[in-house]
Amino acid sequence: MEKTLFNQSDNHHPNKQDTNVQKIVIVGGGTAGWITAAVLSKERPDLSVTLIESQKIGTIGVGEATIPPILDLLNTLQIDLTSFIKATNATFKLGIEFQNWKKVGHSYLHPFGAVGQSNTGLPFYDHWLASTQDQSLNSHQTHALMDYSPAAKMCQQNKFYVPSNAPNTPIEAARYALHFDANLVAKYLKEYAIEKAVEHIDAKVEKVHQQNGIITHLLLDNDNTINGDFFIDCTGFAALLIGQTQGTDFEDWSHMLTVNRAVTFPTKVKNTIPVYTRSVAHKYGWSWHIPLQHRTGNGYVFNSELCDDQTALQTLVKQVGEQPLQPPRFVDFKTGVRPKSWQGNCVAVGLSSGFLEPLESTAIHMITRSIKLLLRYFPTRKSQPVLSSQFNKILYEDYIEIRNFLLLHYALSERTDSEFWLHYQQLKLPAELTFLIDLFKERGALHINSDRLFVNDNWYAIFEGMNIRPRETSSLLSASAQAGMNNLMTGIPSAIDAAVNQLPSHNDFIKRHCGA
Ligand SMILES: Cc1cc2nc3c(=O)[nH]c(=O)nc-3n(C[C@H](O)[C@H](O)[C@H](O)COP(=O)(O)OP(=O)(O)OC[C@H]3O[C@@H](n4cnc5c(N)ncnc54)[C@H](O)[C@@H]3O)c2cc1C
Repeated sequence: MEKTLFNQSDNHHPNKQDTNVQKIVIVGGGTAGWITAAVLSKERPDLSVTLIESQKIGTIGVGEATIPPILDLLNTLQIDLTSFIKATNATFKLGIEFQNWKKVGHSYLHPFGAVGQSNTGLPFYDHWLASTQDQSLNSHQTHALMDYSPAAKMCQQNKFYVPSNAPNTPIEAARYALHFDANLVAKYLKEYAIEKAVEHIDAKVEKVHQQNGIITHLLLDNDNTINGDFFIDCTGFAALLIGQTQGTDFEDWSHMLTVNRAVTFPTKVKNTIPVYTRSVAHKYGWSWHIPLQHRTGNGYVFNSELCDDQTALQTLVKQVGEQPLQPPRFVDFKTGVRPKSWQGNCVAVGLSSGFLEPLESTAIHMITRSIKLLLRYFPTRKSQPVLSSQFNKILYEDYIEIRNFLLLHYALSERTDSEFWLHYQQLKLPAELTFLIDLFKERGALHINSDRLFVNDNWYAIFEGMNIRPRETSSLLSASAQAGMNNLMTGIPSAIDAAVNQLPSHNDFIKRHCGA
């Protein structure tokens, strides 16, 4: 899943005299606003960047679990990981544990990084599947798929070590991400961006002036006027610029993914800090449990047409088994996307562009993805429809990919214990997802492009986690290649176990290297 977000080639930018886009105005100071400001100030020091946020309105204040590309962002910003982890009370994340998704009492792991390795040119999964069906192998010679995932093994033992610091060991193939405190992240990046000369204004934007599809200036509640060449809408669900002013459509996907409200509250830190996010399915949605160094973040995302607030709160309290440290907070959200997140001289980044439930922690990734694309197609004129069209096309496809991957979790579920789950039994899935599921069930062989966010190993982890396997093995497997792989595969799980046994616990690793 991990890939470089900001390649060298993306860093090329025109000389100042080539462009009439020089003054950038970001509206919004949540995670999206400050990540955007930090990246622009670092990658485009030739631009003048102003960020306007209203402390009175505040931020959404959730969004605390990430996926491995977050490390590319920190790398691009040349942020020291240790200082970032200390400052944001972060912990490490090696995957997600899904409880009760197939049925109540069942659980599985979706780990980060490679699951097994193949030296034949065919996917490891194909060889593994063939090995499970090989009558000549005894039970000591066949293993569960996740026995080949170092990240899964580290999750099982709750151990952590930085994979890239363990070269030539089985651990090397794991990938990791972070859990962090969203408010502390915004604060950290705010200081970073301001130090890099981003101008910060605390005021509410009262009015957005636009002429022929081009935003000209903003009127603030302190009566000041802010001009700009290019505007970045980071106003969250308000979508003040891209929606309310530019009028781009919001494509509602809530008929597919039906959760629309969340209740959240923190509880005290656990003695053993899990090295993964936990997602527990309930009758009307699912709850997340995100461990930080100073507290555990909990939330229940649910369908508010089927479940009232009191029931949702009781479900979460029961699941957590502890009293909230702070009063519960309810948040409404809209599931869907703007097919045109860039219109005229305005681009939406963050919740203003789209949102899908946080089941695979993809929203912050989509912020960095949008900025990467923006840098690649950065305009030199206030309207460049070819560039904005390409940006919109790529981003929209990304959202569709994530939507389909999230739907997979529901589509494979056997739960029928409420109207919420029955919806997924009856839902007509998008045709491309139905086809992928059918293809997998027939032969495996998904062959997802390796530049996608969710690659073969991610899809296989969900299918296997939900106990779905292909009817047939790959037609390309030769007996000799399989025999060679059978030999190789036998020793791998014990090698991973031996390596993981020696690692420090997650708690110890944090305490030793990056305790807040
Ligand atoms: C229930 C839930 C759980 C989530 N969990 C995760 C997760 O685990 N992982 C993940 O990656 N993502 C998650 N997300 C998404 C994540 O929270 C967001 O992507 C992230 O916080 C970015 O939000 P934002 O900056 O776009 O919006 P916000 O945080 O809402 O910020 C909007 C900003 O705009 C400002 N603003 C608005 N109107 C005006 C105005 N008129 N004038 C001036 N300023 C204005 C506000 O003051 C604020 O600063 C979750 C989202 C929800 C709803």
